[in-house]
Amino acid sequence: MKVQLEAKAYVELVFEKVKKNNAHEPEFQQAVKELLHSLVPVLDKHPEYIKAGILERIVEPERLIIFRVPWVDDQGQVQVNRGFRVQFNSAIGPYKGGIRFHPSVNSSIIKFLGFEQIFKNALTGQPIGGGKGGSDFDPKGKSDLEIMRFVQSFMTELYKYLGPDIDVPAGDIGVGAQEVGYMFGQYKRIRGAYEAGVLTGKGIGYGGSLGRKEATGYGTVYFMEEMLRAKGLSFKGSTVIVSGSGNVAIYAIEKAMEKGAKVVACSDSGGYIYDPEGIKLETVKRIKEVEKKRISEYVNEHPHAQYQEDWKGIWSIPCDIALPCATQNEIDEESAKLLVAKGMKALGEGANMPSTLEAMAVYLENNILYGPAKAANAGGVAVSALEMAQNGMRYAWTFEEVDLKLQMIMKNIYKDSVKAAEEYGYPDNLVVGSNIAGFKKVANAMLAQGVV
Ligand code: NAP
Repeated sequence: MKVQLEAKAYVELVFEKVKKNNAHEPEFQQAVKELLHSLVPVLDKHPEYIKAGILERIVEPERLIIFRVPWVDDQGQVQVNRGFRVQFNSAIGPYKGGIRFHPSVNSSIIKFLGFEQIFKNALTGQPIGGGKGGSDFDPKGKSDLEIMRFVQSFMTELYKYLGPDIDVPAGDIGVGAQEVGYMFGQYKRIRGAYEAGVLTGKGIGYGGSLGRKEATGYGTVYFMEEMLRAKGLSFKGSTVIVSGSGNVAIYAIEKAMEKGAKVVACSDSGGYIYDPEGIKLETVKRIKEVEKKRISEYVNEHPHAQYQEDWKGIWSIPCDIALPCATQNEIDEESAKLLVAKGMKALGEGANMPSTLEAMAVYLENNILYGPAKAANAGGVAVSALEMAQNGMRYAWTFEEVDLKLQMIMKNIYKDSVKAAEEYGYPDNLVVGSNIAGFKKVANAMLAQGVV
């Protein structure tokens, strides 16, 4: 029956089912809607995907694990958090995707991230499936010992589902090298085996890859550079704003500056700083990476800069290029319109799904050079897969070797996305292009493997 359905009707049918089955998961619904609606031209050309029920299967996680994480705080009080891991799709490789520790984490957030990860990972051209995990644990204000005790409890349950050929987590919001280190230590202790490839984002001294810390931020800039170059533009001499001041933001700022941009603003969840002379990155790095303080501290050292408490206000600053690198849905329609009105020409997403569907429509209507997250921020997971490769070889590449591979991967993602957009009649639309390019790789592997 289904094979007779028009592609558009089929997409609507699948999406209606997703809404019904995931009624209280708005972020997951948003991510699915964004992908499915750009697949109509592919399904028109390839009815075999409809016959094989690829969409119905691809929107359903292979499994979702939810577990209790009990731990003891510094006052001796028992605390309980909820842990999650979604193993979304393993058609092209072991599940791969980060772990997020943030109070907002729930199954909707984890499923949207895991769903996006499937196609992002496929775009990198590496053999990695899609997964994601996390907890509603808030690392802010916790002591090192509390974080370690929490992470050990988290891993004591999660380890059963992991392995270098099964599922390979990494960091994300609230999870950096320290937390990955605690996860690795506990996994090793329970398994009784040194399986370096079970986690990525590890410290350099025990199997981590040079260039992993920088990869997502650098990769976003490399991707945007390709987009700008195609239109005769560049970072050189441009004014850039970057939201966030975490791992992705800091290295996006660093690379954009290296390319000759003036980065004038960044933020955290408390507010944003605006430094019209150009942000002093060393100060931001020290405040956020070493002292782990608030971005508001910046103005104490650079009194000519301004701090505003409303983090959303960052989108009112005039810029040529915006790089949202903080969190999901940080740019709504109103902020997108403001950016366009103030002269923004290009926007590249370092964060996952930082733009609402309405904001995306604003970019496309105004011919903004728009680098969507799945493509633009794939550099992090790409270097994670390079870390797995190095672990497998028991060998380490130099920073330059990793960085060169990252540049090549980002160029290829750009080329594949442009090619797919043109082939299916949407030239210059990298949302459609990257969705189709990533989807086809996964769909073809699923077709080849039968109904599983
Ligand atoms: P991170 O190091 O924990 O940094 C997150 C930053 O975003 C922090 O500065 C945080 O501020 C800020 N933030 C959070 N919510 C905010 C809000 N509502 N408004 C303004 N700022 C906010 O995390 P990350 O690894 O950089 O991840 C950032 C984004 O990139 C996420 O969407 C993540 O999924 C995505 N991503 C990360 C990687 C990776 O390799 N790490 C790869 C691909 C995509 P506070 O310090 O105040 O919380």
